[in-house]
Amino acid sequence: GGSLNIYARMQEILMERGIKCALVLEKEPHGDSIGLKKSGCHGFCEMGPLLRIEPAGILYIKVKAEDCREIIEGSIVNDRVIERLVYHDQEGKSYEKQEEIPFYKQQTRVALEDCGRINAESIKEYIAVGGYRAVAKALFDMTPKQLVDEVSEASLRGRGGGGFPTGRKWAQVLAQKEEVKYVVCNGDEGDPGAFMDRSMMEGDPHRVIEGMLIAGIATGAHYGYIYVRAEYPLAVERLQTAINKAEEKGLLGKNILNSGFDFDLKISQGAGAFVCGEGSALTASIEGNRGMPRVKPPRTVEKGLFEKPTVLNNVETYCNVPPIIVKGAEWYKTIGPDKNHGTKAFALTGNVMNTGLIEVPMGTTLREVIFDIGGGVKGGEFKAVQIGGPSGGCLCINPTEDHLDLHLDFDSLKKVGAMIGSGGLVVMNDKSCMVEVARFFMNFTQNESCGKCIPCREGTKRMLELLNDICEGRGTMKHITLLEELAETISATALCGLGKTAAFPVVSTMKYFREEYLAHVVDKK
Ligand code: SF4
Repeated sequence: GGSLNIYARMQEILMERGIKCALVLEKEPHGDSIGLKKSGCHGFCEMGPLLRIEPAGILYIKVKAEDCREIIEGSIVNDRVIERLVYHDQEGKSYEKQEEIPFYKQQTRVALEDCGRINAESIKEYIAVGGYRAVAKALFDMTPKQLVDEVSEASLRGRGGGGFPTGRKWAQVLAQKEEVKYVVCNGDEGDPGAFMDRSMMEGDPHRVIEGMLIAGIATGAHYGYIYVRAEYPLAVERLQTAINKAEEKGLLGKNILNSGFDFDLKISQGAGAFVCGEGSALTASIEGNRGMPRVKPPRTVEKGLFEKPTVLNNVETYCNVPPIIVKGAEWYKTIGPDKNHGTKAFALTGNVMNTGLIEVPMGTTLREVIFDIGGGVKGGEFKAVQIGGPSGGCLCINPTEDHLDLHLDFDSLKKVGAMIGSGGLVVMNDKSCMVEVARFFMNFTQNESCGKCIPCREGTKRMLELLNDICEGRGTMKHITLLEELAETISATALCGLGKTAAFPVVSTMKYFREEYLAHVVDKK
């Protein structure tokens, strides 16, 4: 799972170095009249490296070091748009302004609002776009109960996978009588193909901090931890810079903004175990123990980190909190369908023209995401989309089930046995073998099983062996029956979410692409 992210990062760094040197050299004669800022991710990964000219809002794509002179001299000094560097759609139509490009135009950005727009290392820029206003409102104009009620009224649901109501979670922690409470941010994003949280931590770290601080004010917690996988070094670096700057400005630490409220925030780095995204494994890892899930109850809201009441939400959930506090629940409820309000960020990858990071209102259809924003399927016809990472399932188009008009929200996906998960969306064309897809995810889950409970430790191993046999031409009808039996048993008996959902990719591919399994076995009737 990590290799995909590491590759992207290495490529990004190499590209960035050449372009940055060229930009610095070319802008030198113009002194401070031209500023050069390092932003977070703009999301349009397929077209990177990207360069945005402000205040004109022009976006240049696939920029190379040798383009930098033309960009500085032509576009900035002489106010001329460099046609060959702007985005052209498949019909050849060009788009100068970022906001007009179909990839961006069809999105609604709330959590990613400022990602790519501001210098991620500058607290001044964050404050200039309205940052920390929600904290001031939370500290001086609202009571903890009002804060919890506002988040509940907005019906914000956890963006990490489960979709649990955030306000309800906060209310449960607020109700605890313990003196010490914690706020924890889950930044352990480990799904193959997912990079939403990484982009938010790298591109808008103060937004994450602000969301956590509000959670602390709302629940009476004075300590926070951001749990980030060590494979995200830029996220760690930018979060640490942001924490330091927030402390200098009196926005973290003792007596925040002279309100009498204290909040200390630390980063804890995880070693990249997928299971540490599970709440109890994550808190165990922060405590310095081996990251293994435990039996619940007690729940994290009662006995979480260091056995104290803990608010645990993921990065994207916290990023949604500041605008809810500033603009109100009523505004938030204008986005998305009932009980599924707000937006969702997705990492759009696989056989799609415009891979990248997108954010759309909940309830947007799969067709709109893949064809209008994603620009259509690459290398063949649409066949399926894998959603929700290793815990999710495959949605597809076939004569009996057309999922392209399915609405992407918690409840609609649940009805067809899938889940949003953290937001990975892997598009597959008609050349993809769905049994191989199932094997890929089973291999991932098997590797990541912590080994604590037998159904997951042994069961995923046996399922992987069966899938290996089927893919390598040794499969029989008995293999298919055994896969089905094991899937049912593991889901019913595994201890944590990783095991309970490990069979989902197999179950969904068997449901929608059974003929592909049958085509692989040697004794088919
Ligand atoms: Fe560990 Fe798997 Fe059991 Fe979860 S289900 S506790 S990952 S062995």
